Amino acid sequence: MQNIFGLTVEELTVLLRPWKVPAYRARQIAEWMYQRQADSFSVMTNLPAVLREQLAEKLLIQRASMLDRWDSADRRTTKFLLAFADGVAVETVLMRHSYGNSICVSTQAGCAMGCVFCASTVHGVVRNLTVGEMLAQTIFINDFLKSGQERVDTMVLMGSGEPLMNYENVLGFIRLVHEPYCLNLGYRNITLSTSGIVPQMYALAKENLPITLSVSLHAPNDEIRSQLMPVNKKYPIAAVVAAGRDYAEQTKRRVTYEYILIDGVNDSEEAARELSQLLRHQLASVNLIPINPVAERHLQRPSAEHVERFAAMLERCHITATVRREMGTDIQAACGQLRNQHLKP
Ligand code: SF4
Repeated sequence: MQNIFGLTVEELTVLLRPWKVPAYRARQIAEWMYQRQADSFSVMTNLPAVLREQLAEKLLIQRASMLDRWDSADRRTTKFLLAFADGVAVETVLMRHSYGNSICVSTQAGCAMGCVFCASTVHGVVRNLTVGEMLAQTIFINDFLKSGQERVDTMVLMGSGEPLMNYENVLGFIRLVHEPYCLNLGYRNITLSTSGIVPQMYALAKENLPITLSVSLHAPNDEIRSQLMPVNKKYPIAAVVAAGRDYAEQTKRRVTYEYILIDGVNDSEEAARELSQLLRHQLASVNLIPINPVAERHLQRPSAEHVERFAAMLERCHITATVRREMGTDIQAACGQLRNQHLKP
């Protein structure tokens, strides 16, 4: 049996040719799957009954099933642990902001990148997610929101995994979720976060997709960054920032640099000055994120005062900086922490 969840209308049309199904039927099937919560052909009442039976013999529609769910005390963040057909599970997070509903999608089960502040990488990478599995996370939350007459408004690819190490599937997913027969999500409402895979950053700039690129920088120089992010040994900070500059120039989109603030590691005034030098004259902004302590590591959060001082120093050097509001710390919203709890014996 072949799973068709995650196929485009064009792919479905090709697949359905042996059944002599006209192209408009492929679109109807896609709308049933992606907009009308169908998980079987039997509910697709605008398809002939004979065709529904024929398709059900050969094809199936695999969605994600919920293993667990956590709500933050303020009910603004909900985290889901979603499982796929082979039992592999990932986290997907819904954040209710004043400007709409944002979701954080995983692109790989686990992660190979080894960032020391991240719980997703503690058990390494299991595998890449397919287009259908990334879409299944998104549609799961969209269906969840529908009961309250709401929908997914913005999406960040910032869950477990390095999206640019799963390049083709991630691009296929972004294009599919944008289709009117799917979620019709605007490209400008999508942010892709990378740890700095330089060749794929240049490739992404050429895709002609006006999505926002977010680069996990987390340090102002190679010495500190290599301690925090092993990927820096392969793609040093200057090469990452050059690729970010190229992305901004090609797409005319502001690049966001993520900077997790860790007490005594990367939060000095000197670090703020170095960071400003690095990003000078670039269409860029910095997102400062006081670290969520990770149980498996020993990294501490700086005081609120210290965070404000770091932000003010960047502003003085003409770098736009915002301190990210914490959401869901009480449910361990930092990526990977809940999945790890489930993996623990
Ligand atoms: S921060 Fe992102 S790239 Fe780094 S280990 Fe975690 S999931 Fe992977």
